[in-house]
Amino acid sequence: MRKSIIVCDNCGKQIEGKEEEFHIVFLLSKKMDLCNECKQKMEEYKNTIAEEENKLFSKQMSLLKEKLPKIHDDIVKERKINE
Ligand SMILES: [Zn+2]
Repeated sequence: MRKSIIVCDNCGKQIEGKEEEFHIVFLLSKKMDLCNECKQKMEEYKNTIAEEENKLFSKQMSLLKEKLPKIHDDIVKERKINE
């Protein structure tokens, strides 16, 4: 397996390793190589975004329930959401 050196797309640090060991991360269809440190930050970022999205979704659904209960019920039924 050939060794190559690439640089982290975030901090510019060189990452050395076998090609298959490189962390290739996709975000908004952008492909990135990240060093371990930046990869960890990316994971934290993704987790935070997922949490915020869940919060937003819950908020949307409760607002919908309040304003447009029939539509809310249809969406719940359609998506089989457990409330
Ligand atoms: Zn980095």
